[in-house]
Amino acid sequence: MSSLPSVPDATGHFGQYGGMFVPETLMAPLQELAEEYERARVDEEFQREFESLLTDYCGRPTPLYHARRWSETMGGAKVYLKREDLLHTGAHKINNAVGQALMARRLGKKRIIAETGAGQHGVATATVCARFGLDCTVYMGQVDMERQAPNVQRMELLGAKVVPVNAGQATLKEAVSEAMRDWTATVENTHYILGSALGSHPFPMMVRDFHRVIGREAREQILAKEGRLPNLLVACVGGGSNAIGLFHPFLEDEEVRMVGVEAGGEGILPEKHAARFQGGKLGVLQGTKTWLLADDDGQIELTHSVSAGLDYAAVGPEHAFLKELGRVEYTYATDDEALAGFKELSEIEGIIPALESAHAIAYVAKVAPQLPAGDVIIANLSGRGDKDMEQACRFLMEE
Ligand SMILES: *Cc1c(COP(=O)(O)O)cnc(C)c1O
Repeated sequence: MSSLPSVPDATGHFGQYGGMFVPETLMAPLQELAEEYERARVDEEFQREFESLLTDYCGRPTPLYHARRWSETMGGAKVYLKREDLLHTGAHKINNAVGQALMARRLGKKRIIAETGAGQHGVATATVCARFGLDCTVYMGQVDMERQAPNVQRMELLGAKVVPVNAGQATLKEAVSEAMRDWTATVENTHYILGSALGSHPFPMMVRDFHRVIGREAREQILAKEGRLPNLLVACVGGGSNAIGLFHPFLEDEEVRMVGVEAGGEGILPEKHAARFQGGKLGVLQGTKTWLLADDDGQIELTHSVSAGLDYAAVGPEHAFLKELGRVEYTYATDDEALAGFKELSEIEGIIPALESAHAIAYVAKVAPQLPAGDVIIANLSGRGDKDMEQACRFLMEE
């Protein structure tokens, strides 16, 4: 494994995945973005400003917390939580939003558009737009607006215009389509801050790079605390940004196992889940070639998850590649398992996780008891659960 290919290649491919599947009008701005990003990547001034914003504005580094009581209760491996929930705006998404706001400024674009599912990416984008004085429009499915009402209010307070999307299932996929439609007409003055390691090149690479700080810090922190690398990394996978951010700096470390946890919803039946690696197939959606949920005619299937942030039909192309290589394993947690994890971490550690992160917690709860006491697990706590209180309580009350 020490010789993993460096991806993506110049055309944005991770092996057979990724690429640029967009209408002609978007090719030029995407090329421009890719070229400017290549310059920013090696520009020390850019990197210095990015790091200083991550530190002073976002609150990095985030702690690597030993969940001692939870580990003892489970009676197996030692579990650490990477506390991305403690970041400004309450989730990892701000890392990418800050990086892309800096890119928009480099490109001289004063108007920002974004899509959002759970609302966390919308809030992160509205936040950096306020910070940088950029005009902000966020597309959000009507259904998501209802299940994440507090985040809609936050975006509006931050000065963003939130545009409801009523098409189709009225969730994230439709919001992405609307954002892409807007961008096609406005590329001259508008940058699209895509919220996950998804979409056309260069987004999967650029978003990954902006989140690699999660894994870089975790690596340093675990070496300082344990004097060795972890046995297992766990992260939930929606589009895959928090997971790739944690995993990437460990990919060359053969002894570190990695598991991505998708949304199993109500179980692996058509339209009841969002676990693309369970019953999904290879296809193209919204700019990229990857694993997705589609029927036999290639129509994108409906998806379901208790957590809006994982409720999407396609997975980031680098994850498809890492699965093919066998470097990362992918599994799923159901709604019920995630809700149990949500409750358990709250009760035992005094930490209310986002429902997305609770999928990673649920997997840890399953495997930690079976692992030897000497093993070390790092789970990414991608966000905090305040936004999910109403949704979670409704489900937990039904029990
Ligand atoms: C958006 C979100 C996710 C899912 O997105 P990824 O790109 O897969 O990380 C996970 N956790 C939280 C808290 C989120 O807000």
